[in-house]
Amino acid sequence: MRNIFRKLFKSNISLIDTMPPLKGRVLAKQPLNKKTWFGVGGCAEVYVEPADTDDLSRLLQFMPHVPLTILGGGSNVLIRDGGIPGVTVHLGKEFHNIKFDDEIVICDGGVSLMELARAAAKQGVSGFEFLSGIPGTIGGAVRMNAGAHGKCFDDILLSLTVVTREGEIREIDPKETEIFGYRMCYLPSDWIFVRAVLRGNKGNTTDIMAKMLEYKKQRQNNQPTGVKTAGSTFKNPQGLQAWSLIDKAGFRGYRRGGAVVSDKHTNFLINLGGATAKDIESLGEEIREKVWNDFGVELEWEIKKMGIEKE
Ligand SMILES: Cc1cc2nc3c(=O)[nH]c(=O)nc-3n(C[C@H](O)[C@H](O)[C@H](O)COP(=O)(O)OP(=O)(O)OC[C@H]3O[C@@H](n4cnc5c(N)ncnc54)[C@H](O)[C@@H]3O)c2cc1C
Repeated sequence: MRNIFRKLFKSNISLIDTMPPLKGRVLAKQPLNKKTWFGVGGCAEVYVEPADTDDLSRLLQFMPHVPLTILGGGSNVLIRDGGIPGVTVHLGKEFHNIKFDDEIVICDGGVSLMELARAAAKQGVSGFEFLSGIPGTIGGAVRMNAGAHGKCFDDILLSLTVVTREGEIREIDPKETEIFGYRMCYLPSDWIFVRAVLRGNKGNTTDIMAKMLEYKKQRQNNQPTGVKTAGSTFKNPQGLQAWSLIDKAGFRGYRRGGAVVSDKHTNFLINLGGATAKDIESLGEEIREKVWNDFGVELEWEIKKMGIEKE
């Protein structure tokens, strides 16, 4: 089925003409490079920002066989230079609501983690400080089981509203099913997370802000800042540190095309400005090969690669 859509993507038949009427934004051939932290990648064949959950459900019901890609804040993705065939869904400003019910927080899937951490601090709700330096959205953080400073999303999620590939709106209770692993979520990869209910604790704004500042300083000391990156490239293999293996394999500061291995944190790849997605992916694959040859350890990409290569 994917091959049919690959051909359609390259042909003159326009997928956008086959779309159901939606209330949200629907755009053809939408460039995605500016929507990702790496700043690379081609166009979405069709890009949709649904107006609400029902709109999203309608889209998915109407187009059951079209390849579907979900893009959050774009902070953990590498979009290939040939773009993304099919429909790319992004939860835009309509999915940016946060509500507090004492220490319980109800958050739409498009809310940024920084927004959540700041709002919780203002409200005197603690428990979200660890999210303050992670540049993604709630939806992306659930998919990645994002974490830092010894905590991850698994620790705070009370319930999740999803829209399945068939367009069914469902509530998921993580107590009933094991849904998280290390930097991953076992729920089907084409389900879209539209709302999360999170558990915080009673705290006070001054202490929360102080903790967030401390975490910010730690990040500034250990990670490159103000650069085009998608954070950690590879997951840490069991009992090992990916950065250390990459360092020992001799890649600190190593460059391929416009992509370079950070000399501050060797698990971060950086687009120096002119990199293509191909430069970044090839650099990552070169690292994987050398680490395998030198240490017999297989590095697994943490970054999600999307789309097709440019011909
Ligand atoms: C400078 C920097 C520092 C980082 N530090 C950390 C860190 O400390 N800890 C950490 O865990 N990560 C870190 N990351 C990685 C990244 O920020 C997280 O993985 C984040 O959770 C990704 O969220 P996003 O919204 O940007 O998702 P995207 O990058 O857009 O997508 C990531 C995955 O989530 C899926 N997805 C996105 N939105 C939804 C949705 N609504 N429903 C279903 N699936 C969805 C996408 O399809 C994709 O598979 C860092 C990244 C950068 C650039």
